[in-house]
Amino acid sequence: MVDITNVQIRFAIKAARQAALLVKDIQEEMVTGALEKGDKSPVTVADFAAQAIVSQLLQTTFPDSLLVGEEDAETLSKDQAVLDKVAEFVRTRIQKTTRRKVLELIDFGSSEPGESWWTLDPIDGTKGFLRGEQYAVALAFVEKGQVQIGVLACPNLTDGYQQEVGGPGSLIVAQQGEGTWTTNLSGGLDFTKLSVSDISENNQARFLRSFEAGHTNVSQLDLIAQEMGVSADPVRLDSQAKYSILAAGAGDALFRLISEKMPDYKEKVWDQAAGSIVCEEAGGKITDLDGKPLDFTQGRTLANNRGILATNGKLHEAALSAIKAVGA
Ligand code: AMP
Ligand code: MG
Repeated sequence: MVDITNVQIRFAIKAARQAALLVKDIQEEMVTGALEKGDKSPVTVADFAAQAIVSQLLQTTFPDSLLVGEEDAETLSKDQAVLDKVAEFVRTRIQKTTRRKVLELIDFGSSEPGESWWTLDPIDGTKGFLRGEQYAVALAFVEKGQVQIGVLACPNLTDGYQQEVGGPGSLIVAQQGEGTWTTNLSGGLDFTKLSVSDISENNQARFLRSFEAGHTNVSQLDLIAQEMGVSADPVRLDSQAKYSILAAGAGDALFRLISEKMPDYKEKVWDQAAGSIVCEEAGGKITDLDGKPLDFTQGRTLANNRGILATNGKLHEAALSAIKAVGA
């Protein structure tokens, strides 16, 4: 069981919960049917507001810590309308926060990784957020290159694996050596343990993949499925919520192949840190497409890795062979 008396675990749970509940409020208020196509303002406002909330809590709990967040204050400081809206939402949680304070809080999250550091994706799966589907607040703690704690707050997942928009939402917590656990997003500490599936027959594998075709290589993924004899259609969803579904045993293999459009793309640490420990502590395995361990010592990206493969463990070697066979 995760150690809920541990101050870092307590902070991580509280921060991810508060950020996700604020993001959910912003979505309910700002993402409407009237949204003009291409209008990204709800996600922008929610991203910044969530990072400000997590920064404030981190600063008051562990003032000397480093936060490697996805957002920085520079672009926000140039857009007064968005800044006003961010400040308005932050004030619903931290009274009397000025615009200047909001910018300071967001900037607190623009550190480079050090010996130990927190990393935050305030909204992972922005496309899912805008579609009203899956997204996650992802927070992790990394020490000497090893992920120690990972938390995913997923407003549209129930029990860590069922896609249910408008349901109670899930909080998923993984701690090094202590397993992966889930509870309701909004409150309580009655955790249920998550474990990966037992599926070891290649052709039984259920693939999980990104909703966005541009974040993977769809034709190669089809070839890998053929190579493994997989017939089930992949489950498509946005964000690191995929890692929770894998951890819960409701999917067996997750691929991030290299998109043809962005052959040099490197994974960002906040896109993988929380998800990777959620997978591993549930009994799964995660490497890059060449079978190399993820290397969290290279700054803000996984510069030493190429793509991602995460599985229930039993299918890992077969999936690596298939990746090699199709040249992915
Ligand atoms: P997903 O929801 O699985 O599609 O993943 C969303 C994340 O993919 C975003 O947080 C981006 O940081 C990341 N991303 C953006 N472009 C690419 C790309 N070309 N390849 C892989 N991931 C990407
Ligand atoms: Mg992301």
